[in-house]
Amino acid sequence: MEEELRNVPFECRGCWHVWQEDYVVRHTEDDHGNEADVWLRAGLRVPPPSSGAICPQCGCQQATTFPDGYLRRHPELIPPAEPRGPDATPLLSPVPRPLY
Ligand SMILES: [Zn+2]
Repeated sequence: MEEELRNVPFECRGCWHVWQEDYVVRHTEDDHGNEADVWLRAGLRVPPPSSGAICPQCGCQQATTFPDGYLRRHPELIPPAEPRGPDATPLLSPVPRPLY
């Protein structure tokens, strides 16, 4: 029996919130030699993640999953764990001031 940790990214189609959930996928074989994947979350059997997950931010059920590894290529989509500090760059207008 093999177990694999999977970090499944979701995106809400209602508010575009992006989040991830950790799953354990247990690869098993039944008595007939058929392979079956059992998805576990916090030790409990759950249905495989799919569209229809509930958005933790707005509660709508229009969430969709990303292809595996998508967020590794798009790290900018992952919300920062801590709020970002203020931007130290001063706001300068690109428009030149009139000389008089
Ligand atoms: Zn949402």
